[in-house]
Amino acid sequence: MPKLPTVAIVGRPNVGKSTLFNRLVGKKLALVDDRPGVTRDRREGDAILLGTEFRIIDTAGFEDEDPETLPGRMRAQTVAAVKEADAALFVIDARAGITPLDEEIARWLRSETTPVILAGNKAEGKAGESGLLEAYSLGLGDPIGISAEHGEGVADLYEQLAPYIEREEDPFAEEDVPEEDRPLKLAIVGRPNAGKSTLINRILEQERLITGPEAGITRDSIAIDWEWKDGEGKVRPVRLIDTAGMRKKARVQDKLEKLSVADARRAVDFAEVVVLLLDGTLGLEAQDLRIADNALQEGRALVIAINKWDVADNHSSLFQGIRAALEEGLSQVRGVPLIAVSARTGKGIDQLLSAAFEVRDIWSRRVSTGELNRWFERAVENNPPPAPGGKRIKLRYITQVNTRPPSFVLFGTRVDELPESYKRYLVNGIRKELGFGAVPVRLHARAPKNPFGGGS
Ligand code: GDP
Repeated sequence: MPKLPTVAIVGRPNVGKSTLFNRLVGKKLALVDDRPGVTRDRREGDAILLGTEFRIIDTAGFEDEDPETLPGRMRAQTVAAVKEADAALFVIDARAGITPLDEEIARWLRSETTPVILAGNKAEGKAGESGLLEAYSLGLGDPIGISAEHGEGVADLYEQLAPYIEREEDPFAEEDVPEEDRPLKLAIVGRPNAGKSTLINRILEQERLITGPEAGITRDSIAIDWEWKDGEGKVRPVRLIDTAGMRKKARVQDKLEKLSVADARRAVDFAEVVVLLLDGTLGLEAQDLRIADNALQEGRALVIAINKWDVADNHSSLFQGIRAALEEGLSQVRGVPLIAVSARTGKGIDQLLSAAFEVRDIWSRRVSTGELNRWFERAVENNPPPAPGGKRIKLRYITQVNTRPPSFVLFGTRVDELPESYKRYLVNGIRKELGFGAVPVRLHARAPKNPFGGGS
């Protein structure tokens, strides 16, 4: 069974974390006693919210104590729970307003990479209004008003949690294996005769095959597992997709079988990283750009290799020419890694694999909310959003909601009216200034609900 997404509830004692936990788990499981000093273990349960299941962890409170003491150790557990969670649900007491401990917790949460949802509890009726307003000062975005005891604010809570708990099945997920050790899922695509089969055969001659080919990853394709020794001598597993029998084809020299665009698409579906192989004796053509563009549209990391380097002329102008044509033709992503290879001699294959691993790391990266928003404030200050129809678009903050590919959500008022050109400005900034380099980056804009509007 795939692991359920996890949400960690955090907050100072007595804000209603246990009541909320119980409401989400739907059982009277917890001892509802949040008095400071009443110790309890961190509790976990399967929660369900508007039909979506997730795992919820009620952390043991957040006492600001020396790590040697019991409350200090509980704090260490809370930190660990948040680091592992898909989202942290930070609960404050909307009636009591913001306390110094709330501020300290917020400071810590802002420095973590885990996305944070801020909930002001005990907000039934009008009682929590001023506390919710104060909560904006925590710098964690728009607080939502809830009442764990009366079951209010469920819809708003769901809306905020949805991006983290409603995750699509990740076809690449492999439980409990650090990404470094997981096989790199690689597809080699390109026009017929670019040299794909030759390259695959050359790679497999050099490398250690782990298992025999495995049929049926997609129709007409097989997966080949092997190991590549990187520059530091570390063994890195690779799982290569071989569409339309590219490997067999080279062996039997069956030149009639052409890799169709449909084959390329199937390979892209499977892959984390797509290598587009160009024929260096022919240069870059429109169909190459289409294949590259499709891989990026699908959110895959891309590396481009110029093959037949051994027989290509004018190496430096060929390379520069293709680089320039890519910058022009793939305007959505700049600086895609470009590597010269020869499937015949084996030149460049190590650089190609090393670039593929590197680009997967970037594709899987998460930036901390703090770093992200420090950049964001500057970016908006340097180039404020326009005011369509004289009405101002107000941008409040940005969150990274996903990786593989990196995806961000922008919050503010009227953000849905943000012009494409402005979104491109932000996406380019994310790439250039936050190190997302040449991978596709997604940016969604949404307008948050007024926390006081419409009840629950
Ligand atoms: P595919 O259709 O992309 O799988 O292309 P193939 O691997 O069948 O290669 C097409 C032709 O290009 C064959 O005649 C190969 O021998 C040749 N070829 C492939 N890679 C290289 C290379 O690096 N250098 C040279 N000189 N020829 C290559």
